[in-house]
Amino acid sequence: MRLIFHGPPGVGKGTQAGRISLAENLSHISSGDLLRTAVDAKTEIGLKAKEYIENGLLVPDELIVNIVADKINSAECDKGFILDGFPRNLSQARVLDSTLEKVERKLDRVFSFTASEEVIITRISGRRLCKSCGAHYHEIFSPPLKENVCDKCDAKLFQRKDDYPETIKVRLKVYKEQTEALIDYYNKKGILIEVDCNGDKKEIQENILTGLRSMSEEKRDLE
Ligand code: ATP
Ligand code: MG
Repeated sequence: MRLIFHGPPGVGKGTQAGRISLAENLSHISSGDLLRTAVDAKTEIGLKAKEYIENGLLVPDELIVNIVADKINSAECDKGFILDGFPRNLSQARVLDSTLEKVERKLDRVFSFTASEEVIITRISGRRLCKSCGAHYHEIFSPPLKENVCDKCDAKLFQRKDDYPETIKVRLKVYKEQTEALIDYYNKKGILIEVDCNGDKKEIQENILTGLRSMSEEKRDLE
């Protein structure tokens, strides 16, 4: 299975991609995580990408398309994958098409996640992370036992710079201007499934699994 999880920032793509990739034994490719790893490791790409990320802008295509294409072509993706955060614009979608065409593979489905702007802003602005062990928290929905301290490793929690309120607005604008058009692109290909992400994590996960089941039923009918 080769899937894309598409949607605005903070809609919960990463959380759901983590859960579904485990449940369905798929590789989880998060372009944001790949870029943040490059930034932390101060690689050439990371150094170039840092400012764009912190300001809520997309990094230039040339900094991300090759990293993602290499991942897709690697052995760990033979079992299938979920792309989370990629493609982010039409030119990235075309690169993805040609990357898959070269190896005679196809995308199976694009899940398009939606939630109200209010839900998105609450989700992003409360997000706190542990740099030391990678644990995720949320000020309201899953707070740590001790304020600002990781339950698992006692390290101080931090907030991503692009999660600051002024930057969230920029990210939502960038989404509307550059990324939202992909809904139409994949809808025309007949592979889009919409998922309402206003509810809780478990409910959203069930909605995705229902979409996956309808997909395999369709496949069986065709055989
Ligand atoms: P969230 O993680 O809350 O769902 P998000 O989808 O905006 O939000 P990431 O996918 O982690 O967050 O991306 C963070 C930043 O990394 C983006 O704002 C952008 O600067 C950069 N980035 C990630 N993927 C791409 C991409 N495909 N093209 C260009 N820039 C990207
Ligand atoms: Mg993410």
